[in-house]
Amino acid sequence: MTLSNLKTKFMTRNDCYTAGRTITPKGIMVHSTATPGVMAGSWFSRWNKSYRAGEINRQVCVHAFLDDKEIWQYLPWNHRGWHAGGAANNTHIGFEICEPAGHSFRGATMVGYDVKKNEAYFRAAWKNAVDLCVFLCKKHGLTEKDIIGHAEGHRQGIASNHADPDHWFPKHGESMDSFRAAVKIGLKNPKNEDFYVGDIVKIKDAANRYYPNGPQIPSWVKSTNHKITQNRSNGKTVLRGGRKAVLLGKKIHKRTGDESPGIMTWVDKEILELVDVEKEEKGAAPEKLYRVQVGAFGKEENAKALMDRLQKAGFDAYMRYE
Ligand SMILES: [Zn+2]
Repeated sequence: MTLSNLKTKFMTRNDCYTAGRTITPKGIMVHSTATPGVMAGSWFSRWNKSYRAGEINRQVCVHAFLDDKEIWQYLPWNHRGWHAGGAANNTHIGFEICEPAGHSFRGATMVGYDVKKNEAYFRAAWKNAVDLCVFLCKKHGLTEKDIIGHAEGHRQGIASNHADPDHWFPKHGESMDSFRAAVKIGLKNPKNEDFYVGDIVKIKDAANRYYPNGPQIPSWVKSTNHKITQNRSNGKTVLRGGRKAVLLGKKIHKRTGDESPGIMTWVDKEILELVDVEKEEKGAAPEKLYRVQVGAFGKEENAKALMDRLQKAGFDAYMRYE
C-alpha cells in the first residue's frame, strides 16, 4: 500500500496558513465538500486566498482534499486548520472528500444523486480516504477510534452543525462506523508496508551497509534525509540481501526541505527510520555560519548606537561583548 497519489502544496496565501498555529493531532475529522464536481486539485485556487485582504468570503482551510484519483495536502499536518467550526480545530486533522458532479442540494439533502453511476467514483474516493487515514494514524500514533465525521463532531460539541459526510456515505451502504472499520483493517493488514512512497527517512547511525552483504554506506549519505520514491517494483516487494527494500530516489535537504536527485539505491527497510520533518524544522541544530562584523567599541553605548542604525536599516544585527 502506498500513498503515491499524495501531493503537497501549501495554501500559503490563506489566513489560516499565515496564522501559523500548530497542534498535536489527537484525531482526524472527515468532511465531504457538498460541492458537486469540484475535484481535489481545484480547491487550491479557490481557497489559497486571504479573507483579510478581501479575496475570499470565508475563513476556512483544511489539511487535505481528496477525490477518486488524488490526495492534495494543503496544510502541514500539525498546522491548526479551520475546518470544524469548533474546538476540534485544536485537535483534529481535517480533510474533505470531493463529491462527484451531477447532483444538487436541498438543505443538507442530496437531490438527483445517481448512486449507480457514482458507485465507482465513491469506491475509489473511499479507498483514498481510508488510505489517508491509515497513513495519518501511523504517522501520529492514532487509531480508527480517533476518527470522526463532521456531524459526529457536532454531536460531541466540538464542531459546527453540518451533516457531512453522513448525508452521502449511506447512499452507498456505508457510515462513519464502516469507515472506521475499514481503517482498522488497513492498520492491521500485515501486507501494509511500514514505509510509504513519499515518506522522508534517514539511515540509522548504526548501519554500515545498504543491505546484508551490500555496498558500504558513505557517511554523506547518512548526513542527509531521503525520500522513498518506490517500495515495490512491478507490483512486487523488492528484496536486497534477502531483506525487503525501498528505493531512495530523492535527497531532501535537512534544513530547507528542498528535493534533489537521490542516491537511487534500494535499501533494506530495517536500516531506515522515519524523519518527523515538522519536529526537525523546529529543533534543527544551528548551522555554522559566516558572520560579518562591522565594528568594535570600548563603550557599550557606541556599540548600541551602531546596532540601532543597522537594525533600522533592515539588518539582522546583534551585539556581543567578549
Ligand atoms: Zn464538514
